[in-house]
Parts: sequence; C-alpha cells; structure tokens
Amino acid sequence: MSDILKPHESGSILIDGKAGADQVDAAVKAGAAELGVSLGRAPCLAVILVGEDRPSQVYVRNKVRRTEAAGMTSVEHRLSAQTPQAELITLVERLNADDGVDGILVQLPLPAHMDANAVVERIHPSKDVDGLTTASAGALVQGSPGLRPCTPSGCVWLARQALGDLTGKSVVVIGRSILVGKPAALLFLEQNCTVTLAHSRTVDLPGVCARADILVPAVGRAQMIKRDWVKPGAMVIDVGINRIEGEGGKTRLVGDADLDALLGHVGHITPVPGGVGPMTIAMLLANTLSAAARRAGLKTPGALTGMNEY
Ligand code: NAP
Repeated sequence: MSDILKPHESGSILIDGKAGADQVDAAVKAGAAELGVSLGRAPCLAVILVGEDRPSQVYVRNKVRRTEAAGMTSVEHRLSAQTPQAELITLVERLNADDGVDGILVQLPLPAHMDANAVVERIHPSKDVDGLTTASAGALVQGSPGLRPCTPSGCVWLARQALGDLTGKSVVVIGRSILVGKPAALLFLEQNCTVTLAHSRTVDLPGVCARADILVPAVGRAQMIKRDWVKPGAMVIDVGINRIEGEGGKTRLVGDADLDALLGHVGHITPVPGGVGPMTIAMLLANTLSAAARRAGLKTPGALTGMNEY
C-alpha cells in the first residue's frame, strides 16, 4: 500500500496529505533540476503579498520555503496595505513581461480597497499558477490545456492515489466557490466521474451525499458531514478548515466532516489537519514547474502523470 494510505484501527484508511505533498514536492524537485538544465536557470515563482494579514504572511512564508526547497527560485514582493491598486497592477504587468518569471501568485485576500478579480485577471494565463484567471477557468471548462486551481487539483490527486482510475465514480462536491467547489467538480468530470455539485440550496443534502462514492465537502461548516450522510465504504476528501473550541479552552482545527463519527464507516478519508491542506502548495509547485516548461515549449519533466497534464 502506498505510504500515503494509512490504515486506521477502525478499518478505514486515512489519506495522508502531508506524505502526498512530500511525494509531489520530491517529483517537482527532480523535474525542476532536469528542466533547469534546458532553461539555464531554475523555474521561478513570484509571490506578491499586500498588507500585514497574519495568516497570509504565514502562507506566503510557507510557499516561499517550499518553492526554494524544491530547487526553484522564489521572488517575494511585499507591498504596504495602502498601495494603490494601479501600482499593484503595474507590478503584475512587469512580472508578466519578465522572461525570468514563470509563475505569478497574488496572495488573497487583498485589502478592502482593491478588487481582487480585477488584479488576478491581469496575470498572464501562462503564468497563472493559482489557476484563477478567467482564461484558466475557461480552459478547464473547455478541457483544453491550462493551469488548474491548486486545492481542487490536490483533491483529485489524492483520490487517484487511493483509488487509481476514477472513471464512473459518483462524486458529490459540496460548495460552488470559484476557488474550490466549481473547479473541483470540473476536475472530477475530467476524470470521467459522474459529478453532482451541491450547495446551500440543495434539497435533501444528506440524501444527495449518501449517493457519493467520493464526497468532497468544501463548505466551511465544522463537522457537518455525519455518518448517515455517507455511503458505507465511500471516500471523503475533506476540504473544509474550521477552528473550534477544543479541550482546556484551546482551539483546534477540524474539517467539514465529522472524522471521529466517520472512522470505521468510510473506506478512505482525509484528516484535517494533514489531508487536503498540505496538497495545495504541492500543486502550486507542480504548476510552477509546468508553467516554466510550457513557456519554454518543453514537456513537464518528471513522474507527474495524473497530477498535471498541462
Ligand atoms: P466559500 O467561498 O465560503 O464557499 C462555501 C460554499 O459552501 C458555498 O458555495 C456555499 O453555498 C456552500 N454552503 C454554505 N453553507 C452550506 C450548507 N449549509 N450546505 C451546503 N452548502 C453550503 O468557501 P471556499 O473558499 O470554497 O472554502 C470552503 C472551505 O474550504 C473553507 O473551510 C475553507 O477554509 C476551505 N479551504 C481549504 C483549502 C485547503 O487548502 N485545504 C483551500 C481553500 C479553502 P452557496 O454558494 O449556495 O452559498
């Protein structure tokens, strides 16, 4: 059994996203070294952070650290929270024109005076490693090559590690955000799954969920997925991240699925933390490698099959 799949004493299998991310990071590192020979330089990711948002600072630090650990260059641009939007867009345009930059990531959320969509739209699709521009979304809908959003790509990658070919699987994604739910639905469709996209207005959500071979909650409601919502033996890929009161007044992170209630009932489940979360940066690195190869007219090197076909 792959070292990503950890049998639990309950009989269910935990899908270890940290181990998965380590595997992808290692594949990207090998690919970056190989591609670097052809490019004459390492693949390069530019990260823009605007303002002092604490969680964003932590995310950016982790992205920079993991990019460099994978043997790629990371260029960080920090702008003050008061930066005019036009100045941020000028920076994005400058990075678009910079041939030494392969990927551009604008850390979200942006300060309230900025229109995040308007800024993200200015990223050239060939460098859109978050996969959030209209062009990237359009390529996903069309099934044409493009950079795919990172968190949903991580969900599909984990499901494939556990089940192999996903053809014909019944997938229920809960949540229809442009960041997670919608692209997740399209990515599972690309894998020949039969996909249902549920949301806050779905009638009989527990009944809809109970039909899934693979259930992908991406809602942001702590432990909403109960045992009787899930078909016995099904897989749960839990995207939700929620902070709740823990023991002794401390807080702790939980997913949208009630992990303790589901263990022993599901076939496979991703824990929170340590499931989908670590995969997001791994897919960002994979996208950066892929963007660098594509921009140079080369194939993405390394054993990244099934993860990144751009
Ligand atoms: P979002 O933009 O707030 O979208 C939430 C979605 O959930 C909406 O489509 C909403 O439906 C739906 N929803 C809300 N209440 C519901 C209910 N009671 N029943 C069914 N559907 C309901 O959130 P997001 O950005 O997609 O993120 C979702 C979760 O994933 C959050 O917990 C977030 O922290 C987490 N996340 C994790 C990662 C990671 O790396 N692991 C990355 C991104 C996000 P309507 O459209 O009908 O309102």
